[in-house]
Amino acid sequence: MPKQSPVPDALDKPYFDALNEDRLVIQNWTCCQRLQHPPAATCGGCGSNQLQHMSWKQVSGNGTIYSYGVVYDSPIAVLQADQPYNVALIELEEDPGVKMLSHLPGRAVDDVPIGAKVKVIFETTPATGQKVPEWQVVS
Ligand SMILES: [Zn+2]
Repeated sequence: MPKQSPVPDALDKPYFDALNEDRLVIQNWTCCQRLQHPPAATCGGCGSNQLQHMSWKQVSGNGTIYSYGVVYDSPIAVLQADQPYNVALIELEEDPGVKMLSHLPGRAVDDVPIGAKVKVIFETTPATGQKVPEWQVVS
């Protein structure tokens, strides 16, 4: 489905630049040995905003479907043509505390196997060409 193009800011530019290189990186706060998504200006563990505590960790792109819902009435105009659609919560292999969202391209609506393994893919958004992560069930 066509999606909005996110516009990176100073904080999340390394995340979006990596996506454009078909790599998934997650913000890593070394003060607490904590992966964090979405990126934020402070560590959710201790509140540090010291940049020497923040780095970016490349992850495998392997995950598991934790849960999902089906959207029937999106407020986002560009998504309304594809309603209803899946929105799944993906748990990263490296840290089950990190959850990412996916429409699970290729899966029928409401046919989502919770607990199934998934792998990241990189989709190009039409407006700017910025890539975004999506997830597909590993068969
Ligand atoms: Zn911390």
